[in-house]
Amino acid sequence: MPSASPASDRWIVLKFGGTSVSRRHRWDTIGRLAKQRADENGARVLVVVSALSGVTNELTAIADGAADSAERVAKLEQRHREFLAELELDADAVLGERLAVLRNLLVDPRVASRALDWQAEVLGQGELLSSTLGAAYLRAQGLDFGWVDARHWLQASILPNQNAWAQRLSVSCNTAPDQDWRRAFAEQPNGLLLTQGFISRHADGGTAILGRGGSDTSAAYFGALLGAQRVEIWTDVPGMFSANPREVPDARLLTRLDYYEAQEIATTGAKVLHPRSIKPCRDAGVAMAILDTERPDLPGTSIDGNARTVPGVKAISRRNGIVLVSMEGIGMWQQVGFLADVFARFKKHGLSVDLIGSSETNVTVSLDPSENLVNTDVLAALSADLAEICRVKVIAPCTAITLVGRGMRSLLHKLSDVWAMFGRERVHLISQSSNDLNLTFVIDEADADGLLPVLHAALIESDAMPVEETSVFGPRWREIVGGVRRRGTPWWRARGERDALLSLARAGTPRYVYHLATVQARARALAAIPAIDRRFYAIKANSHPALLNAIVAEGFGLECVSQGELERVFAAVPALPVQNVLFTPSFAPRGEYAFALDKGVTVTLDNVEALKHWPELFRGRELWLRVDLGRGDGHHDKVKTGGKTSKFGLPLSRVEEFLAEARALDIRIVGLHAHLGSGVETAQHWRQVFDELGGIAEQIGTIQSIDIGGGLPIPYTEDDEPFDLEAWSAGLAEIKAAYPGYQLVIEPGRYLVAESGVLLTHVTQVVEKQGIRRVGADAGMNALMRPALYDAWHDVANLTRLDDTAEDVFDVVGPICESSDVFGKRRRLPAATAEGDVLLLADAGAYGYSMANTYNLRELPAEDVIGGDGNDGAAR
Ligand code: ADP
Ligand code: ASP
Ligand code: MG
Repeated sequence: MPSASPASDRWIVLKFGGTSVSRRHRWDTIGRLAKQRADENGARVLVVVSALSGVTNELTAIADGAADSAERVAKLEQRHREFLAELELDADAVLGERLAVLRNLLVDPRVASRALDWQAEVLGQGELLSSTLGAAYLRAQGLDFGWVDARHWLQASILPNQNAWAQRLSVSCNTAPDQDWRRAFAEQPNGLLLTQGFISRHADGGTAILGRGGSDTSAAYFGALLGAQRVEIWTDVPGMFSANPREVPDARLLTRLDYYEAQEIATTGAKVLHPRSIKPCRDAGVAMAILDTERPDLPGTSIDGNARTVPGVKAISRRNGIVLVSMEGIGMWQQVGFLADVFARFKKHGLSVDLIGSSETNVTVSLDPSENLVNTDVLAALSADLAEICRVKVIAPCTAITLVGRGMRSLLHKLSDVWAMFGRERVHLISQSSNDLNLTFVIDEADADGLLPVLHAALIESDAMPVEETSVFGPRWREIVGGVRRRGTPWWRARGERDALLSLARAGTPRYVYHLATVQARARALAAIPAIDRRFYAIKANSHPALLNAIVAEGFGLECVSQGELERVFAAVPALPVQNVLFTPSFAPRGEYAFALDKGVTVTLDNVEALKHWPELFRGRELWLRVDLGRGDGHHDKVKTGGKTSKFGLPLSRVEEFLAEARALDIRIVGLHAHLGSGVETAQHWRQVFDELGGIAEQIGTIQSIDIGGGLPIPYTEDDEPFDLEAWSAGLAEIKAAYPGYQLVIEPGRYLVAESGVLLTHVTQVVEKQGIRRVGADAGMNALMRPALYDAWHDVANLTRLDDTAEDVFDVVGPICESSDVFGKRRRLPAATAEGDVLLLADAGAYGYSMANTYNLRELPAEDVIGGDGNDGAAR
């Protein structure tokens, strides 16, 4: 279809923000997109642009009377001239006149008083410059663009009670449908038009400004007035996210929102869309989209009236610079008209109040700096007036942190972790909006740093933010910008392995199946790390003989925590030299130490009492010592194995005492060990443990081996990144260089075996109860305890229907008579899932069978091993 003719009355409005207009190739994108939209939709296109990025900040400083204004103007001129050179345009011909206007504003008679109308003229120059150079460039590229002065079309409307500042520098415009306006606008001859955001016409003929970030609103006004098909906001992020992606890299793209939620997210701090830009579009029924100029092919965020309503938190946003005004009155609620008196004084100063909290004797309100001019003069005047009726305290600067989403009230029970996090800060005010769309906490600005990423994670963790709802939530920011490493396709998806599993399932379920090649691959990856001298596999994760042999064949020793595990090792791998066996029990009975010492394996102790109570057992031996570095870490509170509340490890304060006791018994302490927990996600953790242990080893003097434990995580969910072995290994190498005299020892468990194992189970029943569909499995928490014990996640797949799309939502439960017998809630499985299908619980190779029990007198699961590469040691 050819470009729409000027006569077309269908419009699309495209708005490009500061960064989107500051580079030549982005103007090429603007031209291409405008033409594409016109061609595809048979519509006319109005492009609205911001000033080049950073320019409005400079102009604001100049309007505020900065002492170095002349220099700033000179720099602005230079910046625009340089950009015109990049665009290969003649600077004087294109911008000569406009630059002269900018210079002249510095010698304007209104400068001294910093008159508001002069400030507005200054601020508006950025958009006038950018739109002028943009139109010239696009025309030079052969596009038929007309330049439009936005002030000719957008009239500022004066709202009652606005102060003079707002009436000039933070105005709104009337968008009531007006056929004459629309007709006149459409009469402009060019098919494509380019205009400025941010500026409008004041009733006195001068310029009026729409407020910082107001170019979005300009686009919305034009969209509403033109009854446009769509308003597209093109910016430097590919949509509205569940938090500012620059602060929370794990923020999710919000793919589709209704106007109300989008409004709330914008109002509460998501700078990506100006808060005043949504209502005009909503009222006129114009759909909006937020898109990324640098990545124009991404779908972005759509905002319209037909978006599906999904309850839950959609976003968390933050506004800085909030001012709280706390007013202490005497018997205020009983006093007729107290609040009226208070608010009359805010009105007098043209201040709009945002949040309100009240008690018997106190009213506290917040002022949002993006809606108000809240400088010290204004606050002093307000305080003086308020002092006539109450005691006033101004608390600033504060940050308002807001959770946005439908049905906040019904979510409160899921927010306990979030409340707990705020519990550590001083919360000045909590406010729940009466439209049930937001919950806001006001805290000191200084306390807010670093809080959003943690809150965002807690919201997902606690199910309050339903990120599995793919109709609303898209990928994470980090994923979009390419900062995420993906876990590989699991072995069991391969056709051959899948068929093998289905045939094994026919022999009966529940059944664990281990894929030996996966164990071997993990073992080899660890064996290839040069800084590590000795590796032990912690067999508590999975003590299947075939796995033990395969791991030993890769050069690992084995680490045991009980006599039973030692006996398993001696039976399964009889050829393993005892030096390659570690015994690291916790609160084991005396007889188990005696057994281990008798066998000649390396024993680790972690308390002084054992030496004191059983001196003859240990006299003259070589032992390792496990210390507690004073803190724990890990994927769940229940797997943290350090710190005062943990039963593991000798506290550092008692190391001296331990060593004295050992010396008296002629014991040599030759190994030093610490293990802080399981599933620790930061690669830096072990480097630090190594470093701390190195320091302690130096003091002890007899240490030969430093054992930094295990705890390496695996990616259980699609969102988990695979562990960064390279970063881990680099960190270890660095510390190794500082302590070259020690053997570095590791003892991972989960990392080697978790991904190798799956639990197969048959579907017993599919039952619907009051809106929740449950798939029953013949395996329960007795077969795989991790979900019940740690809220652990295991992917669930219907192996029988692996090629069907998994689009229906089910809870997956077992047959055990416990409410916690749930493998996963709201999991996606094929709609046809039915009795007899084989379900697969993934990544169950670690702490699956080894924790299984016969609760409810259900039998232990069966076990099979498949798929080794022949190098897996002894017979099975
Ligand atoms: P433009 O100059 O294109 O108008 P803005 O800087 O005004 O761009 O808005 C885009 C910025 O908004 C992003 O770079 C991002 O840092 C910020 N932002 C804050 N909150 C959000 C959010 N929830 N989603 C997306 N972006 C956000
Ligand atoms: N240039 C103006 C600002 O920076 C308006 C906008 O970009 O939205 O505030
Ligand atoms: Mg903006």
